[in-house]
Amino acid sequence: MLKADVVIIGSGGAGARAAVEVARRGLKPLILTKGKMGRSGATVAAIADFEVDSRSATEILGLRGDPRDSKEKFFEDTLAAGGYLNNQKILERHVNEIPEIARELLEQGLKVAPELSQAPGQSYPRSVITTGARLVRVLHKMCREAKVAVYEHFMATDLVKKDDRVVGVVGLDLSTGQFVEIAARAVILATGGGMQMYRYTTAPDELTGDGHAMAFRAGATFVDLEMIQFMGGVMLAPPAVEGICFGFTLCADVNPLGCWLLNKFGVRFMEAVDPLHKEFVTRDKLALAIATEVFEGRGTERGGVYLSVSHLPRQVVDNYPQHKNVPWLSPDWEMYGFSFKQIMEEAKAGQALEIGVASHFFCGGVRVDENGFTGIPGLYAAGEVTGGTQGGNRLSGNALTQVLVQGRAAGTAAAAFARTVGFGDFPRGLSGFAGRVYAPLERRGISPFEMRKALQKLCWEKLGVVRTEQSLQCLLEQLAAYKKELPHVGCRAKNRVYNREWMEALQLENLITLAELVAMSALQRRESRGVHYRRDFPAANYGAFTMNNILENKEGRVAARFEPVVATRVAPPGEDANHG
Ligand SMILES: Cc1cc2nc3c(=O)[nH]c(=O)nc-3n(C[C@H](O)[C@H](O)[C@H](O)COP(=O)(O)OP(=O)(O)OC[C@H]3O[C@@H](n4cnc5c(N)ncnc54)[C@H](O)[C@@H]3O)c2cc1C
Repeated sequence: MLKADVVIIGSGGAGARAAVEVARRGLKPLILTKGKMGRSGATVAAIADFEVDSRSATEILGLRGDPRDSKEKFFEDTLAAGGYLNNQKILERHVNEIPEIARELLEQGLKVAPELSQAPGQSYPRSVITTGARLVRVLHKMCREAKVAVYEHFMATDLVKKDDRVVGVVGLDLSTGQFVEIAARAVILATGGGMQMYRYTTAPDELTGDGHAMAFRAGATFVDLEMIQFMGGVMLAPPAVEGICFGFTLCADVNPLGCWLLNKFGVRFMEAVDPLHKEFVTRDKLALAIATEVFEGRGTERGGVYLSVSHLPRQVVDNYPQHKNVPWLSPDWEMYGFSFKQIMEEAKAGQALEIGVASHFFCGGVRVDENGFTGIPGLYAAGEVTGGTQGGNRLSGNALTQVLVQGRAAGTAAAAFARTVGFGDFPRGLSGFAGRVYAPLERRGISPFEMRKALQKLCWEKLGVVRTEQSLQCLLEQLAAYKKELPHVGCRAKNRVYNREWMEALQLENLITLAELVAMSALQRRESRGVHYRRDFPAANYGAFTMNNILENKEGRVAARFEPVVATRVAPPGEDANHG
């Protein structure tokens, strides 16, 4: 059996930063990743920025910002954006620790723009402009130097518990088809979000909520899982660039070009939504406005709206990719290796881009404390798989800040715990885990690819930006039917080495678990707040719902309840705010 002091599931920003911390404490970390180190997960896909308060960025990082800003103001903006649902103990660490973590990254060679940018919702410029690819390169250099071991093409399928403590991980070596057991003194979940639940997403293919589902099976608790951020401005056509947030960067990201969004009747609908900021608003507002146009019949046939640059002089458009603070765009309009040159030529000639919304970020997730502890001895979590930092909504750049701060915190705490315990014995009965992994390979039946597509469409329609009691109930009924069909999902391809269909079947089960959790959470919150919009309860209800929405596993069933938010510094608004 393989052994490591601390096993980290996920090689994105949170996993990599956690692993470095474990190694620095003299223990042996092992990163497990479904893909390749440096290529898988959302971190490498990140477009733009991470957040540091302007004053610290000026004093500690030597960047040009606004010295009137402070950690306190950063804290308050994040809390207000999150609808006061954020865990304030986690948020304290978030704003306090990022300057030092960023300083080290810059010393390690992270390239950033010399000047901070300001995104919607930030009172002062706080966006340290870089790219996910640059960040990942530096983090992985730090991992190599710390001699962090990595097991690539490994899909973790379950957390193993003995006497209520997590003692290891089991999973599938995708390159051999072998079921593998790995013992650990402590485990850190860093598996990212579950955006692949949806028909349209900005996120990479492997983000299928495996960590959420494993955590649920192991008895972890979830917080505010209904809070899924959708991004507006995602390309709907042509098919080669579908899902890429090119339109978002042009109209609503830091340093936008200044495009207009028009419905199919040519109305610039953002003027009515936010007369002052128009398209340059926080993501919740932008996504809801686009989804509402579509929902009310003013969208395009593909379910989007138009993005126009016709009002801008050609020279302004031509100069935009040269802008010093948009490093994700090459001077000839390349983004993520896709060329948008032709599309922009057509746009200048009057042809609008067709854009829509897509799932982008999980604000809620596995409940942890400020040290990344899940409440289950031996189990820690960090990054997008967790909830609490962002509350009900996330501002631009705050995900990478979360990933870096929580990665370091969880690495520190997991290492401290690992020092106090030996390796736990793996319990008997692991054949149940192995049986679950091999089952789809041994069956023929419903195609997992087909079922995933159907699930994604269903979640898109019933659990997307706009939700109602009826849509959520309907989804839960359909999910119950899917669960009954799961034992009939099987693989036509029977090879064990890199069998994509097999992996898909395992991911599908996780996606169904995740969809049920999110739907249950969304049903509970009978109000609209942050990124959660209930058309049947369109306003926030501060009196009744300034509470965290908690889910847990009661003998395999999802049980839901509300709990007071963790408020150490700012008292959350109550009933009075409903009238204010
Ligand atoms: C297109 C895009 C642009 C973004 N831009 C920004 C931005 O500019 N600024 C910002 O702050 N945020 C941005 N975000 C959000 C941010 O990138 C993510 O929230 C963050 O990178 C998540 O990091 P993570 O380490 O938690 O997870 P990820 O980076 O997603 O990594 C998850 C890891 O877990 C692995 N994994 C998953 N399941 C398993 C399993 N079963 N077994 C083994 N390994 C597994 C994956 O392979 C991957 O290595 C963006 C997101 C997207 C999608």
